[in-house]
Amino acid sequence: MRDVVAYLRTRLAEFETEAETSRLHRTGCPAGVSVTESCTCEYPKQLAAGISAQRELIDEFVHWLESEDTSERTRARTHRALLLLVQPWSQRPDFDPYWRLDP
Ligand SMILES: [Zn+2]
Repeated sequence: MRDVVAYLRTRLAEFETEAETSRLHRTGCPAGVSVTESCTCEYPKQLAAGISAQRELIDEFVHWLESEDTSERTRARTHRALLLLVQPWSQRPDFDPYWRLDP
C-alpha cells in the first residue's frame, strides 16, 4: 500500500501545479478571459479544496492501515478506498495493473 500512497501523493502534487498554472475558470468568469481580471467563479478555490481534501483522506487511510486497532475488514475497505482514489490515473503507463479495480 505504501507504493499506491506515494503514487497518489505525487499525482496530487502534479494535479495541484497543473490546476494552479492552467487558469481553469468557469464560462463567463472574467479571470478566464483576462489575466488582469479577478476570479468570480471560485473554481480554482474549489479545485484546491478538493485536492486538499484528498490529501487528508489519504493521511486518514494511512492512519487506519497502520493502527493495530483496525480490523481486517476495515483494513480491506481502507485498501479499496485508496484504490478508488487512484483510479483517475489508471490510463497512465506507470499505473500498476494490480491497483486496477473491476468496472
Ligand atoms: Zn474564475
